[in-house]
Amino acid sequence: MTIKKVAVIGGGTMGNGITHVVAMSGFDVTLIDINESVLERALATITKNLDRMVSKEKISASDKDSTLGRISTSTSMENSVGDVDLVIEAVNENFDLKRKIFTTLDEKTKSDCVLASNTSSISITKLAGVTKRPGKVIGMHFFNPVPVMKLVEIVRGLDTSDEVYSAIEEMSKTLKKVPVPVNDSPGFVSNRVLMPMINEAIFCVYEGVATPEHVDEVMKLGMAHPMGPLRLADFIGLDVCLDILTVLYDGFKDPKYRPCPLLVQMVDAGKLGDKTGGGFYSKS
Ligand code: NAD
Repeated sequence: MTIKKVAVIGGGTMGNGITHVVAMSGFDVTLIDINESVLERALATITKNLDRMVSKEKISASDKDSTLGRISTSTSMENSVGDVDLVIEAVNENFDLKRKIFTTLDEKTKSDCVLASNTSSISITKLAGVTKRPGKVIGMHFFNPVPVMKLVEIVRGLDTSDEVYSAIEEMSKTLKKVPVPVNDSPGFVSNRVLMPMINEAIFCVYEGVATPEHVDEVMKLGMAHPMGPLRLADFIGLDVCLDILTVLYDGFKDPKYRPCPLLVQMVDAGKLGDKTGGGFYSKS
């Protein structure tokens, strides 16, 4: 299985970072979004990040130009995926949206094309189930910011083939990432471990055990975490944290994953963290 041409679906936070690393590693890549202005913003972000790498002498100016030369953009997924070997889907975390995209990809891509999802929590087996090629569906869970973070959780669905797993593991190494295999299970490993910690930190604030600043100070100074859990929750987005906790709660039917009422209240109030300027730290 040879991967040469890649399509990335969704040009938001993750899609532009994934496009950056895929193009920098020598692959031709088409970045696809329904929104033209997202594509313009994504290209501007990639250019700015490459410029920073040039100024830090991590890459040359000609590396930057050739990386940008390998990126094309499109607002039509149907017309842009016919000749690609790998699709990495990075649209919003919504099963119905991803289901529609995987159904269309199954129709419009070559039969041997691998369909990967960057989902944080949706079942890869369930996504594979909407296609006629479950053996070729896999999770490639990158971390934000993609050009900086080394980890890719490679999520094997129930039917993901060994050949596809090996190809994606190899591809991740070519992208200079460290692939870690995990089986399909709610939250995979990363969010199954991280989100209960964030939730418990929110319970500490909710129950008046300590302020957000003091909870974070304990975890930074006592546990050597570079960022406290509540600062991290603001960075990830409180709505995203709530969505993932809900997936864990529904998936395991175990009360230990119940989202803290304070988290639910903050999301209801539109206090979503850094993206709205209002969370545990930033005030709206
Ligand atoms: P985002 O909201 O920044 O971007 C999503 C993009 O998808 C938007 O630009 C939107 O216009 C586009 N989109 C929506 N419908 C589309 C369609 N039909 N065709 C093409 N494009 C479409 O979201 P994000 O934070 O980049 O997250 C994307 C995925 O990555 C989610 O599944 C999320 O769970 C996962 N993820 C996010 C993070 C993170 O820290 N943000 C980390 C790991 C994984």
